[in-house]
Amino acid sequence: MATIAFIGLGNMGGPMTANLVKAGHKVTAFDLVEASRNQAKSDGAAIAESSAAAVKGADIVITMLPAGKHVLSVWNEVLPAMTKGALIIDSSTIDVESAREAHALAAKHGVLSVDAPVSGGTGGAKAATLTFMCGGEDKAFAAAKPVLESMGKKIVHCGGAGAGQAAKICNNMILGISMIGVGEAFVLAEKLGLSHQALFDVASTSSGQCWAITSYCPVPGPVPASPANNGYKPGFAANLMVKDLTLAQDAANTAGAVTPLGKHAQEIYQAFDAAGNGGVDFSGIIQHVRALAGK
Ligand code: NAD
Repeated sequence: MATIAFIGLGNMGGPMTANLVKAGHKVTAFDLVEASRNQAKSDGAAIAESSAAAVKGADIVITMLPAGKHVLSVWNEVLPAMTKGALIIDSSTIDVESAREAHALAAKHGVLSVDAPVSGGTGGAKAATLTFMCGGEDKAFAAAKPVLESMGKKIVHCGGAGAGQAAKICNNMILGISMIGVGEAFVLAEKLGLSHQALFDVASTSSGQCWAITSYCPVPGPVPASPANNGYKPGFAANLMVKDLTLAQDAANTAGAVTPLGKHAQEIYQAFDAAGNGGVDFSGIIQHVRALAGK
């Protein structure tokens, strides 16, 4: 079992820390927020007074923070205090450039590094069923895999530094675009007098089939577990979709890719968020699409 430091005990990091403790690892944790530290303590982690104090003597350090600037700031603080040859993993969703900068910083301090963003949301974090998309050298990935398995069920090595973040934003760009497309199709069906169930029965087994229909259908009824049956309670909140689509656009601009549908999806979700729906599940975008017809 490993000696692990976990920094960032929010909606995702809190339950991930609890699962590491459950799996038998020795975990020392830190967050700026006292309530999150107290929760981690009651889940069985030791609490440190700072990020730098938490990483002393750790084999593995994991960060789960809001954005690239937080990750770079925490990695700058902890890397000098880490043991040479130890491993640092960032599971936050951040921009590819910051992820690559973080890898370079770790290399400078003789520390192995992996970017390992997740999909699966808070439900997956609690149930230890997250998917980890990993970027980094083979040796770093091999060291990270067993500990990631305590928090997830699918661990994919996507390539070198930043490849995990690249996979995450490409996947979520597909998801953002496809959820709007599915919403448009259900709204058109309503106008044509076609029932939700009839469209679902056809599209879920025809060429329109996709995850946004079969697992997360944005109208109540056909998929009982989807947020549409629960007042669009997240799930995955629309403001997080805005974050990921913005990261995808930033990456496209930097890399010279042209992604017109990704850009339009970002604008549509930004309008939904600006209208006060940031905390609504992202599949609630169908309500925005439906409202357009009334304008
Ligand atoms: P959150 O805001 O609940 O948690 C972030 C935590 O980081 C907070 O507790 C905050 O106090 C702490 N923090 C910030 N700066 C710090 C510092 N300098 N030192 C120590 N702690 C610090 O966010 P979350 O929902 O847990 O998400 C974390 C990351 O995971 C984000 O990058 C998010 O995009 C990504 N993500 C979230 C979900 C989701 O469904 N919530 C799903 C997939 C990926």
